[in-house]
Amino acid sequence: MLTVDEALARILADVTPLPATATPLDESLGRILAENLSSDIDSPPHDKSMVDGYAVRIADLDSDEVELQVNEEIMAGQVPSMEVTAGTASRVMTGAPVPAGAEGVVMVEETELEETGSGQLVRISCQQLAPGANIMTRGTSIRRGDQVLAAGSRIRPPEIGLLAEIGQTCISCVPVPRVAVLSTGNELVPADEVPAPGQIRNSNGPMLSAQARRCQADVVSLGIGRDDQGELEELIGAGLDADILVISGGVSAGVLDLVPAALAAEGVTEVFHKVELKPGKPLWYGRADHDGRRSHVFGLPGNPVSSLVCFELFVRPLVDRLAGRPRSGMQSRQARLKGHFQQRGNRPTFHPACYELAEQGASVEPVRWQGSADQRALTRANCLAYFSAGQQEFSPGTAIPVYLFEAEGD
Ligand code: AMP
Ligand code: MG
Repeated sequence: MLTVDEALARILADVTPLPATATPLDESLGRILAENLSSDIDSPPHDKSMVDGYAVRIADLDSDEVELQVNEEIMAGQVPSMEVTAGTASRVMTGAPVPAGAEGVVMVEETELEETGSGQLVRISCQQLAPGANIMTRGTSIRRGDQVLAAGSRIRPPEIGLLAEIGQTCISCVPVPRVAVLSTGNELVPADEVPAPGQIRNSNGPMLSAQARRCQADVVSLGIGRDDQGELEELIGAGLDADILVISGGVSAGVLDLVPAALAAEGVTEVFHKVELKPGKPLWYGRADHDGRRSHVFGLPGNPVSSLVCFELFVRPLVDRLAGRPRSGMQSRQARLKGHFQQRGNRPTFHPACYELAEQGASVEPVRWQGSADQRALTRANCLAYFSAGQQEFSPGTAIPVYLFEAEGD
């Protein structure tokens, strides 16, 4: 049986980011830019006042009582019509172009305006002004032709702002992978129904869709498929439109575990079935190459904790790879076991647990857990504690790896 690392290596083998597509700027958040982009403008586009005040010549400020004739008022969006000459000043608002002749801008708080018969006079109390004070010179942030973003950049809100500034409203990006989610099982009813005897609600469908959305996939829900080979084949056929089809249930050794056969009938080639892991051993993974592209297919064991763990360990890294992003999701840490832990079975185990970082260091305490059907235990946990195979007893204080659920950016 493959180890977790071997299985992940097979999934990611020769997987490259999806081919870039033209993307409207307002849909590009979180994506990876696939082109180098240059600016068509200088920024700022003109020498720009950074304050509300008066644009002046520095030589005019050399006496105690400075009074200057006001030429004009320049609002942001207007252009100056007069040069600032000796003995004059122009009123400028934040963002307005600074007129020719001015060497600095005095803040309005340091001035007093007076109306006279022959126009406006401004009295200035500040006697010193450094050259260029309160002026942002044209092109100091960006020069026209500068490359401002390189292919491979992650588009965050600041990048969106910068792209808008340089007028790039449709950019080449790695697309968001499409993930189809199919829940299988005769016992399943939708979550908004009351289960009849023998039935349970479909909890994996909403959970897996949420996991996929959290790693920024475009999710298509295929609902519930009965344990019927014909019905499964039809739903799988629809799911192969996606880049990744995630199926829960039907991959173990039960009489009605028909998913692998239905996948084979739909042309999906098995890459592996079963991984040395608890929970999640029956994991199935295969690929279908069709219509010039590839669909990846996961058959996750139906028990909710198995489904969740397998998604985080195996599906999420693939979503990241297809999206061209660095790996996201569970971050690993070392922590010391709080109590004694006894491992049952001989598979490496990811056990729901609580991680705590205190002054004395990081500690971890496994939560009460009834096994892979007990998803309530996950809601009491903030990590998975990893217990390696081949060891039964773990004494308090033993350092073990933990995988934190909430990663940065979640
Ligand atoms: P299976 O992998 O189909 O053998 O299912 C294993 C266990 O997981 C069974 O107890 C199923 O009832 C349960 N299960 C399967 N699918 C779901 C689902 N979508 N939501 C909740 N439990 C499920
Ligand atoms: Mg089943």
